[in-house]
Amino acid sequence: MSFVSEFNSLPAQSLAQKSLAAGTSAVRESLAKSKLSLADLANLISPAAAELLEHLGRRSHAMTQQRFGKVIRLFVPLYLSNECINNCQYCGFSRDNPILRVTLSLDEVRREADALREQGFRNLLLVAGEHPKFVSLNYLKDCVAALHPDWPGISLEVGPMETAVYAPLVAAGADGLVVYQETYDRKVYADMHTAGPKRNFDWRLETPERAYAAGFRRLGISPLYGLADWRFEAICVAAHADFLLRNCWKAAVTISLPRLRPCAGEFRPLTHMSDRDLAQLVCAFRLMFPDVGLVLSTRESAKLRDGLLPLGVTMMSAGSHTEPGGYTGAGKEKLHQTVRGRIVELASGAPVSPKLRISGEGASEWASAPENATAATGQFEIADGRSPREVADLIRKLGYEPVWKDWDTALTA
Ligand code: SF4
Repeated sequence: MSFVSEFNSLPAQSLAQKSLAAGTSAVRESLAKSKLSLADLANLISPAAAELLEHLGRRSHAMTQQRFGKVIRLFVPLYLSNECINNCQYCGFSRDNPILRVTLSLDEVRREADALREQGFRNLLLVAGEHPKFVSLNYLKDCVAALHPDWPGISLEVGPMETAVYAPLVAAGADGLVVYQETYDRKVYADMHTAGPKRNFDWRLETPERAYAAGFRRLGISPLYGLADWRFEAICVAAHADFLLRNCWKAAVTISLPRLRPCAGEFRPLTHMSDRDLAQLVCAFRLMFPDVGLVLSTRESAKLRDGLLPLGVTMMSAGSHTEPGGYTGAGKEKLHQTVRGRIVELASGAPVSPKLRISGEGASEWASAPENATAATGQFEIADGRSPREVADLIRKLGYEPVWKDWDTALTA
């Protein structure tokens, strides 16, 4: 049975409603249990539990240290291409956004990866928009095979595929698959995805299962917070993680915690999730899933990441760029613009793109302004701009060990 069947009978909306009405005694009852249900999770993300956040934080911190030790695993995204055939309203790479696009050649991908290796990384997340012409299976396979000898951990965040199509990528050396459902609310999902194969909600929801069947040993899931009610999303992703832990038990499951960030297209969040809500959710996930990795990216500010780190986070990205070629300038000379999905050659001279400019007293973080740009457009603005070295130093300062490599291919041989 796939998760879609379980999901269709999941009382997520009613649990989210119960969460809002939960009292302190219900929260304390859930906290007293050694194994938490979805109803308990709903209690732990309730407004009543927010009053006990310090207590939740202490429990979550202790449990994380007991299960994971004092280590934070570091990874970095490498964007291969920002071409995409989908229209996702919240994403800078959306097909109809007139942005500067490029797909890196194999040599350019190597250049980017070498620069990241120099910085210390050994755990790479290859990211690309969904575009069968530019981001073909053979292209992805060649990228993975080229990087595999130097990279013990390679995960993919690319358009969902069939199991048989995933298998050659695993054979080439990819070991992780990350797929955000974006939102578990079918109505909001339909509104957000206006064109392209991503409109198929169920196909996306079953992706981690197909990836597992193909042999991926790490599965990463998440909603994108800011589209539907965060409590509803949290209950759904918890149900999803629980399903994967029961049915894909040989794989390590991680849950990410991405909140929407400004991007080309100027989409603004439909719902609000505060910093405090995010902290509460980290604790609640940890108490429900003692052994599941929790991932926090550079979407969040340095200050918030430093504060959330001891609560239960186990994996962080650092020094990230969300544009192809962002680490070395690779691919700059072949940038092109797309207008409603059509390639428009750039006139010589400085190209103009809707690159984000977020500055100025009182300027809205969510407003973008055109400016001269000579690099591909990023997927979204990052908030923590510290270098990997600075992030590693901070992790040490907080008493943790930054881990750059957490797997060796020899272990799977
Ligand atoms: S979210 Fe993914 S599929 Fe949607 S537009 Fe962005 S890159 Fe394409």
